[in-house]
Amino acid sequence: MRKKNPEYQYLETLSKRLTLFEKEKKKLERLQKGYAAECSLDRLQEFLTKDKLPCIDDLYLKTNESCVQIDKLIVVENTAYVIDVKNYSGKYTFVNNEWIRDNLPLQENIFEQLHNAMRAVKRVLLKAGSDLEVKGVLVFMNATATIDIKDSVADLVLDIREVGGWFIEQMSKISHQQDNSWQEIINRQKIEPISSKEVFSPKRIDYLQKGILCRNCNKEQKRTTYAFKCPHCQGSEPKETAYVRSICEYGVIFCDKELLFKDLLIFLGSDVSKRYLREILTKHFGPKITHGVHVSYRNKVLIFDYWFANKMDYFQSLEVRTHWKPKKESDESTFFDEKAH
Ligand SMILES: [Zn+2]
Repeated sequence: MRKKNPEYQYLETLSKRLTLFEKEKKKLERLQKGYAAECSLDRLQEFLTKDKLPCIDDLYLKTNESCVQIDKLIVVENTAYVIDVKNYSGKYTFVNNEWIRDNLPLQENIFEQLHNAMRAVKRVLLKAGSDLEVKGVLVFMNATATIDIKDSVADLVLDIREVGGWFIEQMSKISHQQDNSWQEIINRQKIEPISSKEVFSPKRIDYLQKGILCRNCNKEQKRTTYAFKCPHCQGSEPKETAYVRSICEYGVIFCDKELLFKDLLIFLGSDVSKRYLREILTKHFGPKITHGVHVSYRNKVLIFDYWFANKMDYFQSLEVRTHWKPKKESDESTFFDEKAH
């Protein structure tokens, strides 16, 4: 599964709990558009080739100074295609070694970004003794984009109308004898995405909406015995899932911190049950890390869907609880009093 990068996860999670700065909003919008284009290319590829093209998606490789992200790497015959996906709309011209949009040069040279990624792939392959040729492919996935390449370029530039045909053409070249040892070479060198550069400033903490918020509309919701019910969108979520998901949200926002009980208590709001929170931490976030008298849990800095990707069947099985009848009010208070001690 293609994952949202750490910065995307951070800004998206933060946007649920406070109003982002203009700069952050624009960044989030860019990330959303880029991710949507990558996912739609994945879907098109899956539909046309049924995953038969030897491919690695969303690859991170180390470079001298930092790391480079590659949207898609496909190897057919003796060529490795480094694919960069763009979701640009409007008219773009590449002339005199510059990208122009609305008569203004783009700050970034998209080809240079692609070549940087290609160099990283080439280095890894060469070091491992592979003689694959490395080529660049730039794919514009937005149907409203018009791309005009005036210079002669070595890279392939495709728009959404052309990329399907290109996938099918590549499929026709695959043979049973194709050597796929490149996948092992690349996978040995791939790294985890570098964490978000953004660190949540403590100055903004007062503006941060606390509590276990609705998973659909991010508004405050009502707790019942087994589930949280949202009076705004009528959505509901099993209590256990809501706790775990919200702890993950804390982890993503406070990416430089471990999970400390006292901090989580503040973040999740006064309405949470201390005992239940302890149970949830032990059950899903263990083992404990002890520093003297303090106890914390490891923060993986991932949204719920990624952190618990391997436990989704379990969380799915809890969904039935949203239909369970809450205990009567008197019973419920007993239930929570008992939990609070
Ligand atoms: Zn809601």
